[in-house]
Amino acid sequence: MTHVLALDVGGTGMKAALVAADGTPLHQARRPTGREHGPDAVVAAVLDFAADLAEEARTRHGGPPAAAGVAVPGTLDERSGTAVFSANLGWRDVPLRRLLSERLGGVPVALGHDVRSGGLAEGRIGAGRGVDRFLFVALGTGIAGAIGIGGRIEAGAHGYGGEVGHVVVRPGGPPCGCGARGCLETLASASAIGRAWAAASGDPAADAAACARAVEAGDPAAAEVWRTAVDALADGLVLCQSLLDPSTVIVGGGLAGAGETLLGPLRAAVAERLTFQVPPVIVAAALGDGAACLGAGLLARDLLDHGLLDSGLPADGPAAGGPPAQGPPPRDLPAPDPSAPDPSAPDPHGRDPLTPEVTA
Ligand SMILES: [Zn+2]
Repeated sequence: MTHVLALDVGGTGMKAALVAADGTPLHQARRPTGREHGPDAVVAAVLDFAADLAEEARTRHGGPPAAAGVAVPGTLDERSGTAVFSANLGWRDVPLRRLLSERLGGVPVALGHDVRSGGLAEGRIGAGRGVDRFLFVALGTGIAGAIGIGGRIEAGAHGYGGEVGHVVVRPGGPPCGCGARGCLETLASASAIGRAWAAASGDPAADAAACARAVEAGDPAAAEVWRTAVDALADGLVLCQSLLDPSTVIVGGGLAGAGETLLGPLRAAVAERLTFQVPPVIVAAALGDGAACLGAGLLARDLLDHGLLDSGLPADGPAAGGPPAQGPPPRDLPAPDPSAPDPSAPDPHGRDPLTPEVTA
């Protein structure tokens, strides 16, 4: 009876699961997100999917889910349960936690960022199982990350903690979607490697996976493209090591599919840059593209296990445009500073700092 509902909303597809108290998936399903029908239709599709899974739980698993977790891309206000902005889904200020809780008959709902949810799952039940401090780095269309500390993810004061992709590793380098130059994701994301290999190989359709295969085949031009990306990634990880000192770095996202072709040179490049820092263990992610859904289930489970039973209904801020209400602060953090900038306020520059969102 204490199963929870987990949902991961991606740019093109949604994954959902009913998860038992011991972590066993009781039921799993996938559906298209349907973003071609517009942002409101995506919200409706999310709510319908969740309602259908709750019905599945009622009819086949002994009762409705006790809580729900949903992972979404873009910028979130996790405290008010609002999906503030997503370029992929076209969302602005969607009070998703309240909408989901209402649709599911008032069950408590946790809203999480997709990469941070994936990092949470990798840290607790995946490649970082048993590790107290880790850094999860997702190398996909862009580069995103999650800082794991003591079984939770540190999202920062404004929800931008762990944005490894926007660490500047080459000042004055290639322009980034965030507005800066030389960000790590302009040099070491799967997209960046794909672009570089397409230019070097003369094949406009060449991508990062093709570059990895060419490296494995001994192509010197591919090796040069690869080395440029690995060097940038190592510079970024060394900066993270100096700041955060994680014991483990978990590398996920599509580029992690290159396996030791990536991780071997990356370990060497990191090791040769470190001076006093202790080298992190660098491992591939273990949960694949199901990590964010599993993480959403963990967020839902945490609502039950840690007594954070708050459906979000009273704590939700006013609808779009108003300031978000502050829910109860996490127990290990001081109360938020009421004079701090509104984390859900639109970016004054009118851009999404997370564009492009990482697709693993
Ligand atoms: Zn950037």
